[in-house]
Amino acid sequence: MPIVLSDWCCIIHAMLSNERIDHLERLLEVVRGLTTAPDLESFLQTVISEASEMTDSELASILEYDKAADELRFLSMQWFDRDLLRPMGVPLDGSAAGWVYRKGQPLIIQDAKMDQRHFKTVDRVTRHDTHSLVAVPLIVRGEVIGVLEALNKKDDAHYTEEDLTILETLGALAAQAMQNIALDRKVRAARIELADLERLKSDFVAITSHELRTPLGLILGHATFLRELAGNEFADQLDTIVRNATRLKDIVENLSDVDNFQSGAARLRSNKVSLAKIAEDTILTFQDEAKARDITLKAELNDASFFVDADGVKISIVFSNLVKNAIQFTDPGGQVTVKMEEDSGYMKVSVSDTGIGIPAREMSRVFERFFQVEAHLTRRYGGMGLGLSVAKSMIELHNGRIWVESEEGKGSTFTFLLPIDNAGKPAAPSASPFAE
Ligand code: ADP
Repeated sequence: MPIVLSDWCCIIHAMLSNERIDHLERLLEVVRGLTTAPDLESFLQTVISEASEMTDSELASILEYDKAADELRFLSMQWFDRDLLRPMGVPLDGSAAGWVYRKGQPLIIQDAKMDQRHFKTVDRVTRHDTHSLVAVPLIVRGEVIGVLEALNKKDDAHYTEEDLTILETLGALAAQAMQNIALDRKVRAARIELADLERLKSDFVAITSHELRTPLGLILGHATFLRELAGNEFADQLDTIVRNATRLKDIVENLSDVDNFQSGAARLRSNKVSLAKIAEDTILTFQDEAKARDITLKAELNDASFFVDADGVKISIVFSNLVKNAIQFTDPGGQVTVKMEEDSGYMKVSVSDTGIGIPAREMSRVFERFFQVEAHLTRRYGGMGLGLSVAKSMIELHNGRIWVESEEGKGSTFTFLLPIDNAGKPAAPSASPFAE
C-alpha cells in the first residue's frame, strides 16, 4: 500500500519528536555533569562537543572575557586547535564573538564570508574556512562573562532557532560552571588570607609578649624595691607604678599563655590538686575587690576537697579569669557564687553571677581571642578579650570542656568539666551547645 501524505506527516513528526527527546536527554546528561565532572576543563569540553554535535556543526568553542587585556580569549576548543587558539586574543570590535559579548545577545551568521563581524584571523591561523556560525553570550547574574559559539552547519544548511535554543541552554550551564569555579577560587583565596592574618596575629602576640616581659620585670622589681625604701614618702606614686606594672604583667602573661597553648609549648605539670583549695584562694584574692564594689563573693563547697589530676597553676588562672570577669560584669548589690560537684568521673565547676549577662548572638564568640562584647573603643570595662580564651585553652589542655549559659540583664554561669583522673582520659563529653 503506498504511503499517503498524512502518513509522511506522522513519520516526520515522530522523527522530530525522537530527535527532541534525544536532545533533552543529552542536555540532561550535561546538567548532571555540573556536579559530577572532575574539573571545569572536562565539563567545558563536554559542553563544546555537545554544542557541535547537537547543532550539526563542525566546531564549537568557548571564549572568556579577559578584563586585563579587554578582549576575549579561548577557554575551551576542539583539541586539534588548542595550541593555536590558546595564546590568541579575539578583539571586541571586528569579531562576531565580540559583538555577542558587547550586545549580550545571540547571533546567527549564515554567510560568514560576507559578514564584516567575522574575525578572519582565526581562520587564517587554524586554516579553517568558516562559512556560518551561531553564538550566544555566557551570562552570570546579568553580567556577560564570555561567549559560546558553534561554526559551520554541516551540508551547508542554515542554523535554526532550535540550534540557538540548544546553544543558549548549553551556554547557561557553561556560565554556571565557570561561576562556580570563580566562587570556589575566591573562597580558597579568602581562606588563605584568613590563615595568613591568623598567623600574623599569633606572631604579633608571641613577639610582643616576649619583648615586653623583660623590661616589665625590671620596672616592677625596681619600683617594688623603691616602694619599700621610700616608706611613706612618694608612697601613692610608687603604689600607682607597682599596681599598673602588675596589670601590664598580667596582660603579658595572658598573651604568652595563649601563645604557648597555640604553639603547643604549653606543658602540664599535673599533681593531685584540690579544686576547693584553689577556689578558696581565688575568693580570698578577689574578696577586697568584691567588697569594694558591694558584691557578695562566695563559694558553696560542702566541705569537700574535690581532688583532681591537674596543673594547679593553670587551673588557678582559669578560676581567676572567671571570677574576675564575674565581678567586673556585675553591678553593686549583686552576687558571684562558685560551686562544684562530682559528675561521673569529672569535676563540674561553675562560676555564676547576677550581672549584665551576654547577648545570645555573642555567646558562641566570647571564648575567641581578643573578643569582647563591647567594641574596644567604646567599652566601659577594661581587659583585652583574652581571659576566656586563656581559660578555654587551659581547660582543653586538661581534656576538659568549658561553656557559658547566660541571659542578658539576669546574669551568666560559666561551667567547666575536668577529668578527676586525667591520665589517658578521652575528651570530656560535649555538655554545651557551643562545644565542638
Ligand atoms: P576581657 O579580659 O576583656 O574581659 P574575656 O575573654 O575574659 O576578656 O571576656 C570576653 C568578653 O566576654 C568580655 O569582654 C565580656 O564582654 C564578656 N564576658 C565575659 N565574662 C562575662 C560575664 N561574667 N558576664 C558578662 N559578660 C562577660
